[in-house]
Amino acid sequence: MATRPLIAGNWKMNGLQRAAAELEKIIAGAAKLASSTDILVCPPATLIASFATLARGSAVAIGAQDCHREVAGAFTGDVSAEMLKDAGASAVIVGHSERRLYHHETDADIRAKAVAAHRAGLLAIVCIGETQAQRERRQTIDVVRGQLSGSLPDAASAQSLALAYEPVWAIGSGLTPSPADVAQVHGFIRAELTARYGSAAPGIRILYGGSVKPNNARELMAVANVDGALVGGASLKAEEFLAIAAVYR
Ligand code: PEP
Repeated sequence: MATRPLIAGNWKMNGLQRAAAELEKIIAGAAKLASSTDILVCPPATLIASFATLARGSAVAIGAQDCHREVAGAFTGDVSAEMLKDAGASAVIVGHSERRLYHHETDADIRAKAVAAHRAGLLAIVCIGETQAQRERRQTIDVVRGQLSGSLPDAASAQSLALAYEPVWAIGSGLTPSPADVAQVHGFIRAELTARYGSAAPGIRILYGGSVKPNNARELMAVANVDGALVGGASLKAEEFLAIAAVYR
């Protein structure tokens, strides 16, 4: 492991104020885990400020699930990276496949959001990954190459950028690629990062995401060039999320 692993939880559109009780359990559990692992919880935007207050001084950081490319302005319903930072977030997921699908986000949109995150001092977690149909057509590497070329910012460091390889067919399905398949894609991503960012590339974390659970996390996290996980469903339960983070103990 060339770098500090990151276990990030994507709560998606789940969680009311009372979910603070689950965050408190995550904070308590994280205090007993390896201090060399970064733990991030990305709740819905409505919970970021209160969660950041609760998590202050703990081993848990708070992130967001999306941001707008602009700092401020007439963009009804949107939230800027600067606003997320102001609310206490330290990271933001951009380009999740659900946003690419339901909000028609393009690689260029995602790149602009990653640039905005950098501008605001947030870590951008840029999501990429192929669909089932693309996988069946053996286009995985071509799709990932295109997404990397279109959605990554020109400048990046370990503090400003992480990648999440999330095969779309693995998200929420209980299916995962084989360790060999993950190794192939993560190795390819690392090579592309090296070509693009040179000496900064080894520090840029490449997370695997898609049906990571306590029973498969160890095997997936042991794959070369896997520097952590982006966890959806299993991040909603403190016990499961902590069990995944515990693979780095
Ligand atoms: C996700 O939505 O980013 C994700 C990885 O979901 P799940 O873990 O539920 O597959």
